[in-house]
Amino acid sequence: MTLIELSGLAVFGLMIGSFLNVCISRLPEGVSIVTPASRCPSCGTALVWRDNVPVLSWLALRGQCRTCRSPISRRYPVVELATAGVFLLQGAMLGGSPLTTDGLGLALASRLVFSALLIALLVTDLETFRLPNPLTYFGLAAGVVFSAVGPLGVSRSLIGAAVGAGVLLAIRELWKRLKGVDAMGLGDVKMLAMIGAFLGWQQVWLVLLLSSVVGAIVGVGLAVAGRGTMQTKLPYGVFLSIAALVASLWGQPLIDWYLGTLSI
Ligand SMILES: [Zn+2]
Repeated sequence: MTLIELSGLAVFGLMIGSFLNVCISRLPEGVSIVTPASRCPSCGTALVWRDNVPVLSWLALRGQCRTCRSPISRRYPVVELATAGVFLLQGAMLGGSPLTTDGLGLALASRLVFSALLIALLVTDLETFRLPNPLTYFGLAAGVVFSAVGPLGVSRSLIGAAVGAGVLLAIRELWKRLKGVDAMGLGDVKMLAMIGAFLGWQQVWLVLLLSSVVGAIVGVGLAVAGRGTMQTKLPYGVFLSIAALVASLWGQPLIDWYLGTLSI
């Protein structure tokens, strides 16, 4: 990608990140993400455009509402910057120019939609322990549509969705029988179905493996830091998000490496 394309991608990521912040704040409450326009959650003052510029407005206002001075969460600029960063990574890993290479524009669009959904799900699960249906259902449909017009193909996408949902439902049922508790919510089941729809069934196994590795590292880290015990409830959607992002960026090399170590 050229420097101009990468710059455009970064600015686009900041704008999408700003929209993701609205989704993260409103979807768990069941509020429309379209209307009303953004307003301060404390005093209700509607934001004018200069208070709504990604990252810069937050910095200019020093993280406070212009009207009532109540603090604005750091989450806003962090999500905007993270989205821009992930978009840049996706563009860089894809290689080539999406404007001039056949099929690359579609591949990039698929990766950006997938990344945006994963970021929104990650932060929402972290803040509320919920994975809103509008995100997972939209993602499931988008994954199938992108696969149908892309190289993955609709059947591998549908099998991916079924394997993703099936594996987690089986684990959930097993846990219920053994321990009498719900190990995970149905949101996690729908989320792995969405991931399978985008990446195909082979990568579902990679995502499951990676998510348990990430979860174990975080769980042990928290226990060591004295901020939780091994029984502390952790939002599994966060680990699924991180694992799916890694898989979408480096999935094939990881699978090749893993299979290589088995055949030695
Ligand atoms: Zn205010």
